Amino acid sequence: MKTVLSTLFIYLSASLSSAAYAHSDTPKNIIMLVGDGMGPAYTSAYRYYQDDANTPQIEQTVFDRHLVGLSSTYPAPVSGYVTDSAAAATALATGVKSYNGAISVDVEKKPVESVLIRAKKQGKKTGIIATLQINHATPAAYIAHNESRRNYNQIADSYFDRKVNNGFTTDLMFGGGWQYFMREDRNLVEEFKQAGFHYLDNYQALAKLPKNKPVLGLFADKGLPQALDDSDKYRLTTMTKAAVAQLENKQGYFLLVEASQIDWGGHYNDISYALAELDDLAKTMEYLETYVKNNPDTLVVLTADHSTGGFTVGANGVYKWQPEVLRSMLMSATAIGDKLSQISFDQTQASQWFNFALTTKEFEQLTQDKTAGQLALQSYGVKKDQSNDDKQPPSLADVMQESVKTIIDERTNTGWTSGGHTAIDVPVYAMGQGKERFIGMQDNTDIAKKLFKLLGRH
Ligand SMILES: [Zn+2]
Repeated sequence: MKTVLSTLFIYLSASLSSAAYAHSDTPKNIIMLVGDGMGPAYTSAYRYYQDDANTPQIEQTVFDRHLVGLSSTYPAPVSGYVTDSAAAATALATGVKSYNGAISVDVEKKPVESVLIRAKKQGKKTGIIATLQINHATPAAYIAHNESRRNYNQIADSYFDRKVNNGFTTDLMFGGGWQYFMREDRNLVEEFKQAGFHYLDNYQALAKLPKNKPVLGLFADKGLPQALDDSDKYRLTTMTKAAVAQLENKQGYFLLVEASQIDWGGHYNDISYALAELDDLAKTMEYLETYVKNNPDTLVVLTADHSTGGFTVGANGVYKWQPEVLRSMLMSATAIGDKLSQISFDQTQASQWFNFALTTKEFEQLTQDKTAGQLALQSYGVKKDQSNDDKQPPSLADVMQESVKTIIDERTNTGWTSGGHTAIDVPVYAMGQGKERFIGMQDNTDIAKKLFKLLGRH
């Protein structure tokens, strides 16, 4: 009897709490953020990067304050254990695992619905923001279906052509992509304008968006400039603030925000690149932290699609990681490499570009690399005259960019094991209404499934 009663009690309290859950934690607004390539090494490194050296403690980051769990990232079995951004975005957007390259289609290439589209069908406003072109894998998985992420023009076309409830799938798009939206065969910017969208092509115009109008903001040909080189180093934060103000309405909204270029920093094995992108994402999260305080019926979830580069915080068996020089850099390793390749320099000039004092050894390394690069170019020219060598000429800019990254890696003691993605689990962050559902270990598909539950059945 005692067992029956206690079983009954457990059953009752379980059903009561799940019923209470279903009604009490449904958020009005959902903001889903994806840090592309943001494995746990990046958020750990960011803590030390932003540490105030004048205080004895290591300050918590906005990521530390809102960590709730971990997520596995593996794609459908046909693609093994290491995911690409398309399969991961499909999982995060739809709750379905697919093959690498898939944009919200399953392994049979059949379309699967995303949480953003579900929210749209329920009458919510929707938006997407990316720091790469808005039709690349992550945002595409939320509003398009395609058998391949590489069909960029088709994906861009579908942003205009695909309709939900006789309307567009999304009310707001911010990011890069002129070359895909203004083509010789089709000018989607014109088509969106004709259809009533407000179009803008510079960050300043984000401050004066017309109310109650759908908006398309394209700010670059493909990806936006790196945060380190951009006119607005916090452009993800700027775009997110403008989007939230634009999307607020009685029915609520679903906004997808992608910090797209952490991944590129990882692919290039460029830690200064990745951390500047992460800094922009951290400022965005700090803004959202305040927003959720003032709008407690909003849910914010942040995760990564995978990690990139096998980034190591403290490499080669040496117990130190020294991010000091990263904090002062004023331009990207790419931009410094370009200058070093184009302009002759002495130690003082080179140090100015890095914005920290180079050692004589580091300076000599740069000059040796430049000389070797110039010699390689010359001998390529000679070979070219003698034979029909149709290989790409070596690029002095590439050589000098590698040289800059080597100096930065050695200074900071940063390590890399790959130019691609890795299969490590990624952190999950949540704040606001419904955040409890994301606590603990989960799969990337669970994140979409939980969002579908929070949106309710329709
Ligand atoms: Zn990637």
